[in-house]
Amino acid sequence: MSDGTGESTPDRECYRCDRDVAPARLFRVTTEPPAALSHDYQTAERFCCPDCAAGMNLSEFSERLKAHARRGERPVEE
Ligand SMILES: [Zn+2]
Repeated sequence: MSDGTGESTPDRECYRCDRDVAPARLFRVTTEPPAALSHDYQTAERFCCPDCAAGMNLSEFSERLKAHARRGERPVEE
């Protein structure tokens, strides 16, 4: 089904649960190494759904999530 361009991605996957999520609802998780380790580690960028963001220790995020969404407060264990 691919036309070979490979550039357009209307939906992204959550890197944790592999669920397709609309880009507008994805958290961008950026991991940037300290300068001392920057030659060994690259800056990584991943995308994460709101449920997984709430399941991580992102309490500051989840506080805001609760304000916008009523579901997904419990961590996903399955
Ligand atoms: Zn997820």
